[in-house]
Amino acid sequence: MQQKMFSPIDLHMHSLASDGTMTPHDLVQRVHDAGVQVMALTDHDNTAGLAEAGEKAVELGVQLIPGVEVSGEWETQGIHIVGLFVDPENGVLQEGLARIMAFRDWRASEISRLLETAGIPGAEAGARAMAGSRMVGRSHFGRWLVRAGHCADASEAFGKYLGRGCTAYVPSDWIPMTEVVRWISSAGGSAILAHPGRYRLSATRLRTLLTAFREAGGSGLEVCSGSQAAGDREHLGRLARELGLLGSVGSDFHGPDLGHADIGQLLPLPDGVEPVWSRAGIQLH
Ligand code: AMP
Ligand code: MN
Ligand code: MN
Ligand code: MN
Repeated sequence: MQQKMFSPIDLHMHSLASDGTMTPHDLVQRVHDAGVQVMALTDHDNTAGLAEAGEKAVELGVQLIPGVEVSGEWETQGIHIVGLFVDPENGVLQEGLARIMAFRDWRASEISRLLETAGIPGAEAGARAMAGSRMVGRSHFGRWLVRAGHCADASEAFGKYLGRGCTAYVPSDWIPMTEVVRWISSAGGSAILAHPGRYRLSATRLRTLLTAFREAGGSGLEVCSGSQAAGDREHLGRLARELGLLGSVGSDFHGPDLGHADIGQLLPLPDGVEPVWSRAGIQLH
């Protein structure tokens, strides 16, 4: 039976507080218009959008789970860890995130320096103008490279300049996974391994990562994510069941017209996978 590509719960998306293109206010409106009842705002490495999103969510009757997507690493592999149900006031979490944001600032000037060497000056100012006063990341450099006419689209910008091993790629020492999980746990949150299919790990390696993640206090993984490859959902569902991990679902929406899954455009969790939200008493209707 063909399953419907719609989920009334979507626990991974970005606003202008990181590299999304919508304000938190407009994002929550879009969630509501899509018919999604429960959302998590999970900006990269900061929680600055949560207050504005929270106000709009109350107004529209959308349930907002406070979240964050933290950049971390496991054995030199960059990984993203979504924290759900986090207390944004928690000092351990905020001190940790501040360290990453400082690293991002330094990295932005390094990326810019490398682009300049490659004959493209002015990238830092350009990317910062795209980011406003908020988090600056490779997406902003990508958008600026397109706007300034150096690349046709973001995928070319990542393929030529920003992706791993490319001209302006800055190897990054992200925070070890165990420490990220500790921050999220300190803030009362559940740590979820984001988009496991995107790390291009072998099945064995992914199982090793998830086992280490569970031992570090990780709660679960995104079994259903936006634009994932055929078969990933079933494979990840099996791993969740076998390892006793909870399942989450999230589109990773960044904005309209960016060519990826829209809000709520997700399959449901496979049978037998315990949802991360069931422990919070969330009922979908
Ligand atoms: P950063 O966290 O600053 O290193 O940037 C990572 C972000 O860049 C991801 O969250 C995506 O939003 C974006 N990104 C990564 N790869 C690509 C790509 N090939 N094309 C467009 N955007 C990408
Ligand atoms: Mn992003
Ligand atoms: Mn991510
Ligand atoms: Mn994301």
